[in-house]
Amino acid sequence: MITTPAVGELVPPNRTLMGPGPSDVHPRVLRAMSTPLVGHLDPSFIEIMNDVQELMRYVFRTDNQWTIPVSGTGSASMETAIGNLVEPGETVLVPSNGYFGGRMASMAERAGGTVVRVDAPWGEPLDSADVQAAFDEHQPDVFGFVHAETSTGVRQPNVPELTRIAHAHDAYVVADCVTSLGGVELEVDDWDIDVAYAGPQKCLSCPPGASPLTLSDRAMDKVLSREHPTRSWYFDLSLLEGYWGDERSYHHTAPISNVYAIREALRLVAEEGIENRWGRHLRVAGALKAGVEAMGLGLNPTDDCWLPSLNAVVAPDGIDADDAIDYVLEHYDLEIASGLGALAGDIFRIGCMGYSARPENVALLVAALGEALE
Ligand code: PLP
Repeated sequence: MITTPAVGELVPPNRTLMGPGPSDVHPRVLRAMSTPLVGHLDPSFIEIMNDVQELMRYVFRTDNQWTIPVSGTGSASMETAIGNLVEPGETVLVPSNGYFGGRMASMAERAGGTVVRVDAPWGEPLDSADVQAAFDEHQPDVFGFVHAETSTGVRQPNVPELTRIAHAHDAYVVADCVTSLGGVELEVDDWDIDVAYAGPQKCLSCPPGASPLTLSDRAMDKVLSREHPTRSWYFDLSLLEGYWGDERSYHHTAPISNVYAIREALRLVAEEGIENRWGRHLRVAGALKAGVEAMGLGLNPTDDCWLPSLNAVVAPDGIDADDAIDYVLEHYDLEIASGLGALAGDIFRIGCMGYSARPENVALLVAALGEALE
């Protein structure tokens, strides 16, 4: 006999989110999500779609017409980028210096690409000379890199140089901006990035569900002139174009509440001003960095590739990082995370993203972590 489940009302704990994402959601975004639904083809929703695209262009710093929220988490915008741009038999160059370069490789392989790698140790950025050498050796068609590697806390600093190398070889550049968009300087047009994707739950402080993607005309021309359709129906940009392009015709039911949410999250960025927002992340994360350094701890990446939105703090010898992480969660309702892959157990990953990037959170973090390490 099937019994009725005795499940109580939802009462999640009230955490402060300073891990690798999601970050704390701004109350205005939560409010926007709880407003009534309209249909995904309602004239009022078409207006909302226009707003989202205009705001997203502002935050990506691009004039790209093809700028849309992809239904799903950051991996959805990532899969849309790679699955559409990479055609079977093409060579795809990806980095080996972090967890998300590895995910790019898996996606490129599933798209039928042949993956080649440019190496750097985990915790370091790619060197331009190594990228140049990889291009000379492999002549890749597509080059993917991670602007803000959440697994290592490394910001790739030499982006214009990397895109220059790629374009000199007629390749297309895909940038993972999941942990940089809206928090760390990013200039899609000025840096000549062909395709950039992100997630809303990091520096935009919005729940996951609708993930930013932008493509240049040149990249979209490649996508629209593919010999074979991309393997995913759901993420096929030539079909999504019908909904997010001029026609506004049905493809799939947009996640209405998530589109409301990202509209409000992007509006908050525009109100603050994108440069001011980058400045706030630098200032608040700078205080966090100074605070942990005053405790005798250091950051793993060097200052020239420090990523303010994700601070990779080296755990002191003899300390079990996981114990300290459990301690701050239990005693302070504060979420931080451990390292991944090659850095598992060696670092704390402390996010400073969007609405979480506030001085009072830094004070809480420094007090809580200090106590956990006593
Ligand atoms: N790329 C990077 C750099 C990320 O940090 C993440 C998520 O943390 C992703 C891609 C994938 O995003 P999601 O987990 O939202 O699917």
